[in-house]
Amino acid sequence: MASSFPFSAIVGQDEMKLAILIAAVEPAIGGVLVFGDRGTGKSTAVRGLAALLPPMQAVVDCHYGSDPSEVCGCDACLAAKALKTGARPRTRLIPVPVVDLPLGATEDRVVGALDLERALTQGVRAFEPGLLARAHRGFLYIDEVNLLEDHLVDLLIDVAASGENVIEREGLSVRHPARFVLVGSGNPEEGELRPQLLDRFGLSVEVKTPNELGMRVEVIKRRDAFERDSAAFQARWDKEDAKVRRRIVAARKRLPETRVPDVALERAAQLCMQLGTDGLRGELTLMRAARALAAIDGDPEVTDAHLKRVAPPSLRHRLRRDPLDESGSTERVERAMAEVFGA
Ligand SMILES: [Zn+2]
Repeated sequence: MASSFPFSAIVGQDEMKLAILIAAVEPAIGGVLVFGDRGTGKSTAVRGLAALLPPMQAVVDCHYGSDPSEVCGCDACLAAKALKTGARPRTRLIPVPVVDLPLGATEDRVVGALDLERALTQGVRAFEPGLLARAHRGFLYIDEVNLLEDHLVDLLIDVAASGENVIEREGLSVRHPARFVLVGSGNPEEGELRPQLLDRFGLSVEVKTPNELGMRVEVIKRRDAFERDSAAFQARWDKEDAKVRRRIVAARKRLPETRVPDVALERAAQLCMQLGTDGLRGELTLMRAARALAAIDGDPEVTDAHLKRVAPPSLRHRLRRDPLDESGSTERVERAMAEVFGA
């Protein structure tokens, strides 16, 4: 396995790390947008996090790596389903996948290709799974999502939201599970995402090259140490990564019992009203992100402290342009928070 830079060894970038942790605990959050300059290691956190997650049980021969407790419609899964009660399907352990979506990938490559001729003449299911199939139960990473065609971004967000990929061609249809966390990176200087697409992403974070001397030195030191001897470097960070893994596993278990009191919902709504965000997606994301954070922190219910930490990544990409207000979106969210939560 190619080694990835340990998640815990990433210097700074706290908001990005938190956003990806939240998405790993609560995939319903709807994906993460990462804005930042080139060379700020935007995909490093995703790869690092996937690498530290526990490997998953998958049905042997299933193209989609289905979990034995939620088999899909493929031949291997159907055979597993037909087993006598009590018999367990054969499984293997697979790592959490991180799939890169290259710019210029065709739709067939992304969603999978249906060979109509073979299907019609030979009556066989001639489906070649695409990148979405490979991303099932993991992460789909798109570098420079702002350069991808709108219809493809739309499609990816639809699949990420529904957890299922449906391909329909001339009366034939294939469907398979495709539950993944969508992470898109963007370079603000190279084209913008339409506001309708921006709004469909759950969280957005901004990463910058650190502008503090000590931090920059530390980034270079760790990068160099990793590239010289990645195994030794990884071994040094194993303990910290294991801590993160335990937090995620515990948070996933705790999430269904984590409460969101009405007062927290009211706060979330007040904040969105103060900012004038359209629709209810802002509140919904804010609530889910705060709940996931409470679960990560081991708290029984959502409080102001959780809401405050997740408000900027939940809301900053949903603000309408205000011609009278030239301040950045992060400042606007912070100002609204001061109004709603008090100083
Ligand atoms: Zn299957």
